[in-house]
Amino acid sequence: MKTIPSLLSKTKLMRGYRCQKCMYLTIHHPELEAPITPETQALFDQGNLVGAKAREYFPGGILIDNRPWDFTGALAATQEKIAAGANIIYEAAFAYQGCYARADIIRYSATSKRWCIYEVKSTTKVKPEHLDDVGLQAWIMAKSGLPIEKIYIVHLNSACRFPDLSNLFTEQDVTDQIRARYLSVQPKIQEIYSILRRPQVPDIDIGPYCLAPTECGFVSHCWKEKNIPEISVFDLPHIRERKWELYYAGIISLDDTRLTELNELQQRMVDVYKSGQRFVDRQAIQAALNTWTFPLVFLDFETINPAIPRYAGCGPFQHVPFQFSVHVMADPQAKCMHHAFLHDSASDPRPTLIPALLAACGEHGSIVAYYGKFEAERIQALADYSPEHTDALTALINRIVDPLPEIRSHVYDPAFAGSFSLKRVAPALLGEAGRYEGMTIANGGDAQRAFEELIAPATSAAKKEMIKQAMLDYCEKDTFVMVELIRWLQGL
Ligand code: SF4
Repeated sequence: MKTIPSLLSKTKLMRGYRCQKCMYLTIHHPELEAPITPETQALFDQGNLVGAKAREYFPGGILIDNRPWDFTGALAATQEKIAAGANIIYEAAFAYQGCYARADIIRYSATSKRWCIYEVKSTTKVKPEHLDDVGLQAWIMAKSGLPIEKIYIVHLNSACRFPDLSNLFTEQDVTDQIRARYLSVQPKIQEIYSILRRPQVPDIDIGPYCLAPTECGFVSHCWKEKNIPEISVFDLPHIRERKWELYYAGIISLDDTRLTELNELQQRMVDVYKSGQRFVDRQAIQAALNTWTFPLVFLDFETINPAIPRYAGCGPFQHVPFQFSVHVMADPQAKCMHHAFLHDSASDPRPTLIPALLAACGEHGSIVAYYGKFEAERIQALADYSPEHTDALTALINRIVDPLPEIRSHVYDPAFAGSFSLKRVAPALLGEAGRYEGMTIANGGDAQRAFEELIAPATSAAKKEMIKQAMLDYCEKDTFVMVELIRWLQGL
């Protein structure tokens, strides 16, 4: 058992809101927590960018720039600035009875002689979990002696369109909702501290709170403790919240004879799991493939969706393609032709990407896109952006065919483990040719981060060349895998 710190940050305390065991393990067994993934780090970085951007809408403030772990320094600096008459403070720090929080922005009203709190969230709406988070923060601030007038959650405005970022943020007054929660905070904090002082890890069962709103970092530890097998009812496709009903009824293994009332797909997964035999409906696959017309044009986009829009007409989190790969198969026996496009500067990728896309896709044949809805939506957005290409781009959408629903309906391999993503399906059916292991860039998130590095001014020319090659390799692999997948289906 470790010593409990004299101050616990709001971020850590919020883990106690999620689950007492999570809070306990965070303090006493941090070594059991999974390391932060690059995806999670990218989300943190994005949150920091949005937070910094929001300060521009509250100009003239003073930043408490003590490092996140310097609680004492940040608390002292905050009190100093308030005493000196600061009207707007960014990252002000407050503490009360072992609880510590930093507020994104606080603004003083000389009229009411009280402060307004503005908590910035990098989402396009207020979410239920924000209210607990801001509620705890406002409680700490109020109890520490800060007179509070109003509490706002500031979030991104989905109606904002670049380049006009004057309305990038919108704010929601949550004062009444937050104050209504004050009474519940003190008992919650007392409960958290009393659990932390116990010598034993609290006996908490796994539950929906393990997975939402984000996956808990102790999932692999706790689920192993509960002997959840690698493939279980939790992996059944479209099982949603029923998985918890099954779990609480003790039905965990796909072997369990009490596992009934499954839909066709779920039952197929169970049957394949028990038999170990791949399911393939050859006739149905052939019938679907026969409706596709040659040349087959295999298409895959890589996109970015920045929280703060950066291209004309785009809103927060709007996906913009910066790269595509196209393989063209003239006939079933022909060798494929490959076309690649990669935008490599900070400028808008669309003006150069659109003509290259139209040239690569040509005017004939089915366009094969795995989860083609995503590609169709991106092309529709390109058509809306560029009126001179609207007709040609709309014609591409009308040619899209999607292997995903065909595979979902007519093929199931034990190695799918309930997932029909290309990254799961391809290795299961194609073996080595379908694997991404060992690639410098191995998924869409990697590609997004690589693109940001590619267009960053600080990246050296040599590094840019390495990144470009890795990005080209990855995107080409995605369409190559689709080609191999369709050849596999054709060969059935
Ligand atoms: S995985 Fe679940 S049970 Fe374990 S600490 Fe996290 S939320 Fe609690």
